[in-house]
Amino acid sequence: MSQAMKEFENRRILIIDDDARIHEDFRKILGEKKEKSEYDEMEAELFSETKENSESIVYELDSAYQGEDGYNKILAANKEKRPYAMAFVDMRMPPGWDGLETIKRIWVIDAQIQLVICTAYSDYSWNEVLYHLGASDRLIILKKPFDMVEVQQLTTALTTKWSLSCERIARLHQIKESEEQYRTVVDSVEDTIMTLDKDGNILFVNHNPWNMINQAVGGNYYVDIKDEYREKVMQTVKDVFDKGEQKSIEYASLTNEDSTVWSEGRITPYYKNNEVVAATLIASDISARKALDWQLRHDELTGLANRVQFSAYVESCLGKKTPDQKFVILFIDLDHFNLINDCFGHELGDKLLVRVAEILIKKVEKNEMLARLGGDEFAILKIMNTDDAGVHKYAESLNELLKNPLTLDGFDVYPTASIGVAIVNDAVTAATSLLQDADAALYHAKSRGRNRYECFDQLMRDEVVKRVSIGNELRQAIEKDQFEVYYQPFTNLNEGRVTGFEALIRWNHPERGMISPDEFIPVAEETGLIFSVTRKMLMMVCSQIKQWHDMGLHNIKAAVNCSARDFNEKKLQGIIEDIIKKTGADITKLELELTESSIMDDVENSIKNMRMLTDMGVNISIDDFGTGYSSFGYIKKFTIDKLKIDRAFIKDTPEDRDDVAIVEAIIAMAHRLRIKVVAEGVETAEQLAFLKKAKCDVIQGYFLGKPMTSAEATKRLLEKDWPNQELI
Ligand code: C2E
Ligand code: CA
Ligand code: CA
Repeated sequence: MSQAMKEFENRRILIIDDDARIHEDFRKILGEKKEKSEYDEMEAELFSETKENSESIVYELDSAYQGEDGYNKILAANKEKRPYAMAFVDMRMPPGWDGLETIKRIWVIDAQIQLVICTAYSDYSWNEVLYHLGASDRLIILKKPFDMVEVQQLTTALTTKWSLSCERIARLHQIKESEEQYRTVVDSVEDTIMTLDKDGNILFVNHNPWNMINQAVGGNYYVDIKDEYREKVMQTVKDVFDKGEQKSIEYASLTNEDSTVWSEGRITPYYKNNEVVAATLIASDISARKALDWQLRHDELTGLANRVQFSAYVESCLGKKTPDQKFVILFIDLDHFNLINDCFGHELGDKLLVRVAEILIKKVEKNEMLARLGGDEFAILKIMNTDDAGVHKYAESLNELLKNPLTLDGFDVYPTASIGVAIVNDAVTAATSLLQDADAALYHAKSRGRNRYECFDQLMRDEVVKRVSIGNELRQAIEKDQFEVYYQPFTNLNEGRVTGFEALIRWNHPERGMISPDEFIPVAEETGLIFSVTRKMLMMVCSQIKQWHDMGLHNIKAAVNCSARDFNEKKLQGIIEDIIKKTGADITKLELELTESSIMDDVENSIKNMRMLTDMGVNISIDDFGTGYSSFGYIKKFTIDKLKIDRAFIKDTPEDRDDVAIVEAIIAMAHRLRIKVVAEGVETAEQLAFLKKAKCDVIQGYFLGKPMTSAEATKRLLEKDWPNQELI
C-alpha cells in the first residue's frame, strides 16, 4: 500500500440488519478488531514476507438494527469525521425502512460510502433494485446465504475502493487548487502569455492586457500583427517548431483602437513525446520604450532621422562597405534662415523646414537617409557608385531644387542652401571624421558666398587639421599675451588729416612669427575664445587711446573689430564699461566695427544692443558693407555712424564702371541717412581721386598707410603733416 493510500485508509464498516445473528456472522467472517499476536509476527518473519503483505486487515465493525438507526450512525460518523467506508444493508428490516429506502437516504448524506445490499432469493431481482435506486458503482448485491470468502474479498475490495476514491478526490482537489493558483499567477503578470499552434492559433492566453481583439483562445495571433512584421513573426514561430529552439522577437501590432503596440517576446517550444506540439510566447509591451526610442532617433518637427540616427547609419554603412561601393554625405544648410525666422516668425520658419524636408526626401532612395541635424541643417547619405562628376551633378541638382521660391502662408520665400559634400574613400573609417569633412566643406561653401556646394578635398583636410592645432595654441596665446595691435590710419578727406585708426590684431607666435587674424579669428569664434581675444584687444586699444590723450593727441579715435558672437553677447556693454573705467579712456574715442551679417542674424536684438552702446558714447561702423544684405532699409533703423565699403568694390575702381556706380550709389544713399562712408583697401592715387570726387568721407588703405605698430603710429601722429598733403 502506498504512503498516500495509507493516509486515506478506512476499514470502518457498518452492518445494518434487524437480525442479530447476521451481525454475529459478519463479525466472525471479518474478524474483530484485535492486537496482532506474537505468533503472526513470527510467521511473517519465518516466511520472509514483507511486513506489509503479511499484515492482515483489521476491520472496525459497527452494528445498527434498523435502517433509520444505521442512517443516524452514518450521519454521526461523518460529523465526527470518522466516516464508514462501507455498509452492509439488509433488504428487509421490519418494522422500519427497508434496504432500498435506507440506501436511498444514505446516498443523500454520504457521497462516498460503499454499500452492499444483502438479499435472499425471494427478494427483489437486480433489475428491480436498479429500477428503484438507479445505476451506481457504489452498490453491490450480496445474495444470502453468504459465502465467507466472497464476503471477505468484497469487504477488502470495497474498503480499498473507498480509500482510492477518497484519494482521487483529494488529488483532484489539490490539482484544481494549484491550477487556480497558477492561473492567478499567470493572469497577474503584465506580460502576455500565450500558447500557439503551428499556424498561430491561440490555444491558451492569459488575460488580455493590450486590448487586442483576436487575443482569445481560438483566435489567430497573426491577424493583429502589423503587415510589415507579420511575415517575420510567422517565420519565427515556424522556426521554433522546426528547430525546437527558443527565439526572441520584436514586432508591432494594431490594437482595437488602431493604435500601435510594440511587443518584445520570447517564443519557446513546448515538447510532447520528443516533438514540438506548441509554442509558448511571453511578450511584454515595450511601446513606451519604443516611443522614447523614436524620440531619441528622430527630429520631431519633420519626422526625419536626427543627428544620432544619422551618425549611427553612417557608421553602419561604413562598416558594411565593400571596396567598389561608394556613398557620399551631404550637409545642407539653408542660407540666412535666421533672417526668415526674424522677418516672418518662427512658425513660418518651421513650415519652411518641413517643406524643405519634403523637397529633399524626394531625392533620397531606399537605403539612403535624409536627416535633420538641427536648426536649418539637413544631411543626406546618398549611395553613389558613380564618378565624382555624378556627385557634383547631384549636389548641383539639390542647389537648383532649393532655389525655387516657396509660397508659405501667402509669403514668397526664397530659400537657398549651401551644401558641403564628403565622398567616402578608403581612408575614412569613422563616421565622425566623415561628418567633419562634410561640415568643413559646408563651411567653405558658406564662406565662398553661399547658395553653392563644395566637395571636401585634401586642402580642406589640411585646413581642418590646422584649425584644430590653432585652437589648442590659441588658449596659450591668451594666457601668455601673445597678441599685438597694429594700427591702420583713417584719413578724413573733409578735414585733410588722420583722425583715427583701425586696430588690427596680430598674433606674435613664438615659432611661426606673425599670424594673420584671418587664420585664427574664425577658430576663436568657433571655440568661444573670441570673448577673451576681444577683451584683450579692447584693453590694449583703450590704453592706447588714453595714452594718446595724455600726450595731447585729443582727437584720435580707434576702432576695434567685433565679431558676431561678441556683439550678441549680453555682457559686451559691461565689459566695455569695465575697461573704460580701468584705463580711464574717453569712451567717445572708441569705435566698434560690426559686419553686416553679425547684425542681420538677429535684427531686433541688434537694434537694442546698438542703442545701448551708442547711448554709452561708443561709435559704431558697419564693416565690409556690400558683401552681405546691403539693405538700406535695415541700415536706417540702426544707430550707426559709418559705413565701410568693402575692399572688393574699391579694388577695380575707377576702371570698372559697375563698381564705380555701386560705390557712388552707396555714398549717396549713406549721406542721405547722415551716415559717413569709409572706403577700405585704397591702394592707388586713381582710386583716391575717384573717391574724393565721389565725396567719400574717410580713406583707409595701403596707399595712405599700412597697419603699423603703436610706436610708429604715435611717431607719425606727432609729425603733424600726416598724411602728406600732396597725396590728398
Ligand atoms: P577687416 O576688418 O576688413 O580689416 C581690414 C583688412 O584689410 C586688414 O587685414 C588690413 O590689413 C587689410 N587692408 C587694409 N588696407 C588694405 C589695402 O590697401 N589692400 C589690401 N589688400 N588689404 C588692406 P588684416 O589685418 O589681416 O585683418 C583681416 C581681418 O581680420 C579684418 O578684416 C577683420 O575682419 C579681422 N580682424 C582683425 N583684427 C581683428 C580683431 O581684433 N577682432 C576681430 N574680431 N577681428 C579682427
Ligand atoms: Ca574692420
Ligand atoms: Ca573691412
